[in-house]
Amino acid sequence: PDVYLKRQDGEVLGDLLDSQAPTPRSIYVFLLDGLHHTELEDRLEADPDTLPNLRALRETAAVLASGSIVNFPSITWPSHTTIGTGTWCGHHDVVNPSYYLRDERKMISPQGQQVETEGFANPEVESLYEAFARVRGEASLTAAIHAPFGRGAKHAVLERRNLCNRDVLHGLNDELSRDEDPRWREDKNEDAVRESTLDTRGVAQVFDLFRRDDLPSPDFVFHELILTDGVGHDYGPHSEGMRSALEESDRRIGRILDLLEEQGQRQETLFVVTADHGMAPQDVSLAANPGRHVKTVGLSAQVADSMVWLLDCHLEIERAADGRTARIIVRHGDALTSGERPVLANARISVHRLEVDVPGEELAEGTTDNQGLFAFSTPAEIPSSEILVRVEAPGCSPRNLTLDGMSRRKDLRGALYPDSEQLHEHA
Ligand SMILES: [Zn+2]
Repeated sequence: PDVYLKRQDGEVLGDLLDSQAPTPRSIYVFLLDGLHHTELEDRLEADPDTLPNLRALRETAAVLASGSIVNFPSITWPSHTTIGTGTWCGHHDVVNPSYYLRDERKMISPQGQQVETEGFANPEVESLYEAFARVRGEASLTAAIHAPFGRGAKHAVLERRNLCNRDVLHGLNDELSRDEDPRWREDKNEDAVRESTLDTRGVAQVFDLFRRDDLPSPDFVFHELILTDGVGHDYGPHSEGMRSALEESDRRIGRILDLLEEQGQRQETLFVVTADHGMAPQDVSLAANPGRHVKTVGLSAQVADSMVWLLDCHLEIERAADGRTARIIVRHGDALTSGERPVLANARISVHRLEVDVPGEELAEGTTDNQGLFAFSTPAEIPSSEILVRVEAPGCSPRNLTLDGMSRRKDLRGALYPDSEQLHEHA
């Protein structure tokens, strides 16, 4: 059967596959959220007696020694969708935790929404769950355990498809909550306690799914373990908190490995251990949000953390052949879903003679009409390259250009380093 996804970015790393080994029956992906591979490698090396389950998996694994980059931006929702579809975010469409739909003039936030987000992904790309259903048939069982991308999974609690038995889960939660590290409650870290509880519930779901008589055994599980992300944010990378989070997550992985052993499936399962992104050292007390500076300096933009979409106008500029008149039509830079760029009325236009990079004599001034049009007369003896037009359209960043259509930009190096003579000379 064709096991390739409908669209796959990049190439399959065939070197990772052992062609002599028996074909696995099922795939189990452990995703340790926000766990940079150096965090795991350092801990395995520094404490040889810890993390027995991750260590056992690693011993027989193909390892990407320098790690890998899931996606740009490397951040939860886009990365999970990349792992679940084999495509970059520019193809699966979930380009950021929050992003701007420029044709609909709307900011949306899958990561803010958290539940029922599968509809944001482009239907033209295939998910791994869908591929299993295509190859193994609709009766095969796939599960997204708290994975932010679960499109096509039969069991996906975040998509409100829950195959589990509530009473069974309650009993399991009590037993499995013993894996929680006491540190989180001692530190009064409510977020870590909540994430630890969520991870316990995820393991309980897996126990119920694999032990059920009325369901086929899952062919594919995408299992998100969230604790390493929240603790990484709160305690920082390579911290004592991270050590505890890794050990706790390792206990949960051990529970799953034992369960599969008990079910006679461990040897038939291909395990993948991965992450959606890493964790940079940060001083969260700074509440730094550099993206917003584009607005404080006066540009029009839509800003969501780590995404900036500049709102710009689209200009059609034309000077008559005799050089005596010119016209400009101002439109919104972003086309609507229909493909049309709406015209912008009431855009302020000022026209000056350009004298060595500064505006000189005023030649015309006015605003665009309801058709986005402004027409003006021009002295025929001044070349278009020496007539400066400034456009300030409502809701858009201002534009400066010469009548020949060339944009006039500030020399950013000069603006950023006004004292550096050398830079001016080379600018
Ligand atoms: Zn994440």
